[in-house]
Amino acid sequence: MEILKDEVKMIAVDLYGRKISRLAFAINYENAEMYYQSVCDKILKFINSMHLSDHQILGVGFAMQALISPDKKTVIYGKILSCTGLSISVFTKYLPFPCSFVHDAESAAVSELWISPELEDAFYLSISKHLGAAIISKGMILAGKHGHSSTIEHINMQSDGALCYCGKHGCMETLCSLNALLNKNETLEDFFKYLRLEDSSYMIRWNHFLTNLAKAINMLHLIFDTDFILGGYLAPYLCESDLAFLHEKIHQMTPFDEPSDFLRISKMPKHNIAIGAALPYIQEFLEN
Ligand SMILES: [Zn+2]
Repeated sequence: MEILKDEVKMIAVDLYGRKISRLAFAINYENAEMYYQSVCDKILKFINSMHLSDHQILGVGFAMQALISPDKKTVIYGKILSCTGLSISVFTKYLPFPCSFVHDAESAAVSELWISPELEDAFYLSISKHLGAAIISKGMILAGKHGHSSTIEHINMQSDGALCYCGKHGCMETLCSLNALLNKNETLEDFFKYLRLEDSSYMIRWNHFLTNLAKAINMLHLIFDTDFILGGYLAPYLCESDLAFLHEKIHQMTPFDEPSDFLRISKMPKHNIAIGAALPYIQEFLEN
């Protein structure tokens, strides 16, 4: 499951992590009984539509735009959806399956690990409406002591910058998320259509965005010298010339004369967040 402000996406995957079925529907998130009841009702109907019995469901993962407690049962920071403190019991009371929360950037990185099992270390950037990240270390997602590892989106980049949803100004989120790139009501499709037609105003906006992204990556790359995977909703639109631009900008900023080999585009840009929420149940099942 992927819980968004105005939409819910669900996807059922088999033991290979392949899609069996998918459903997305518009619904405004509200921290209210009615909301949880109707989402769970949809889940049960979705399962019925695939003619699966309850014992075939290993679990339901809920990817949230929020930070999650290490036991995956509580939202410890949920400013985007205003759901801090939310307990998984709001869902489990209606569903006869194990349920868990997962930070959406982490589930995207889990998907990436699934499709690239050879990945040892990497910095995964989820560039969607909001910015998120996950650090992959020794083939695992780095969890951290308090559950807020890799929350790079709130690193300050501009002291007098735009207001971030966290309440501070000039966070990386305000420069490197799709909210920063796109105008209100503008879609990624539209933006890239005009950009690839080389409309000059779009090229200026894109270069500005990539320059900020290069600054952010350079900063993170100085801390963790590893491969950077560019993921999120932006990933399917990126091309090799964008990577070359980023490498060149980083090359100008960084003190080290490094080869241009540490940036790559996510191999799994589609449905990665929802699928990544399911994969830990499959991994656990296969391991045991
Ligand atoms: Zn912030």
